[in-house]
Amino acid sequence: MSYITLDGVSKQYGNVWAVDRVNMAIEKKEFVSLLGPSGSGKTTLLRIIAGLEKPTQGRVLIDGEDVTHLPPHLRGVAMVFQEFLLFPHRTVYENLAFPLRMLKLQKGEIEARVEWALGILSLNGLEKRYPNQLSGGQQQRVALGRGLVGRPKVLLLDEPLANLDRELRQEMEVEIRKHQSALGIPFIYVTHNQEEALSMSDRIAVVRGGRIEDFAARTDIYDRP
Ligand code: ADP
Ligand code: ADP
Repeated sequence: MSYITLDGVSKQYGNVWAVDRVNMAIEKKEFVSLLGPSGSGKTTLLRIIAGLEKPTQGRVLIDGEDVTHLPPHLRGVAMVFQEFLLFPHRTVYENLAFPLRMLKLQKGEIEARVEWALGILSLNGLEKRYPNQLSGGQQQRVALGRGLVGRPKVLLLDEPLANLDRELRQEMEVEIRKHQSALGIPFIYVTHNQEEALSMSDRIAVVRGGRIEDFAARTDIYDRP
């Protein structure tokens, strides 16, 4: 039994099948990229796993549980977006604490988890700053931290580095991959950038027209004749 299973998942918008009969099995410690051109269905697939969209057909299983009908906050899933979506009028500390307040954790537990996130993301000393007082990389690290403080079973990332310049992007690729290995949870990473997928992933799912064309170790996909 895989850690995450997509079983015949489809999503129809009007006449368009944005996602079309997708079957996928993802293991617990995998870094998986969904790689495909704009409009191929990557974001829709990610939003279905997150519970932000309901599939027209099919089932989503996470850690042995059928979560198809569960709302996002009961799935143990966190999502990081291209637009960092930080609260501009709240400090770094408050941005990180926010999801934990939603989970109604105790004050001590919230403090401990925010400290942990500040530490692993090298944000120590920045907790009183506001998002506009941070660099792009620091803002993205806060967005990543906000995903991780809730200790999700899986982290979903939708083109999280698309707004960063090339040098910073490469730095963040290494950092994100490091966190995934350390945490031992699957990261599912949406990108249209082949280089990015190649540099980070254990396996790459090539998405086209709502379907998974190929799903294999990166070396298998790009060394084929
Ligand atoms: P990608 O993330 O690969 O760019 P999307 O999942 O955003 O692709 O979109 C896949 C297809 O579904 C596109 O044709 C898009 O226009 C369509 N689509 C996505 N979301 C909606 C929606 N809410 N309503 C109607 N069509 C949508
Ligand atoms: P992305 O490709 O990064 O998802 P888009 O601009 O395509 O960005 O989509 C932004 C939002 O609009 C998403 O929530 C998506 O579901 C929705 N959307 C995308 N295509 C359509 C569409 N054809 N009709 C209605 N909503 C759409």
